[in-house]
Amino acid sequence: MDYYSNQISKLIEELSCLPGIGTKSAARLAFHLIHMPEKDVRRLADTMVEARENVRYCKECCTLTDKEVCPICSSPGRDHKTIMVVENTRDLAAYEKTGKYDGVYHVLHGAISPMLGIGPGDIKLKELMERLREDVDEVIVATNSSLEGETTAMYISKLIKPTGIKVSRIASGVPVGGDLEYIDEVTLLRALDGRTEL
Ligand code: ZN
Repeated sequence: MDYYSNQISKLIEELSCLPGIGTKSAARLAFHLIHMPEKDVRRLADTMVEARENVRYCKECCTLTDKEVCPICSSPGRDHKTIMVVENTRDLAAYEKTGKYDGVYHVLHGAISPMLGIGPGDIKLKELMERLREDVDEVIVATNSSLEGETTAMYISKLIKPTGIKVSRIASGVPVGGDLEYIDEVTLLRALDGRTEL
């Protein structure tokens, strides 16, 4: 990459560290940025820095938010006794887009994976158990149907069972290995409606 100026090479290198961005895409983005008006580039950079600085975990559900308690958790219109457990904030957004779920969520930020060395202590499980001390009717486990998602679902069910709170698992209308965020709304709702008690 010697034929680019140092600055361009550095920009390409930084961009290619982002997920899904290979060297080719990084180069295309870098040249696009260089041709953008300077004020637009600055606005983009500021937005990134501000998001990084201000976004944090919701005190209740651990989703990413810029408030202490996210808008879903602070909404009186939601059913706070039904908690849907998802792997990440993108999965939460997928269910929110359907507009048909009126409970609240709990975001784990990952799934248990012995292969990758991710254990129960590495995801937001302790926070979930703490929430269950309050009045909760049902926990819907909506982790992905990958090996990690299923392992996590089993683990959660074993953890919650002794509390007497109902634990259910979304139906397997979601294809195996399917990432929730890529699945259409109809399939998501079918999976939710067809959930079974664990
Ligand atoms: Zn929240």
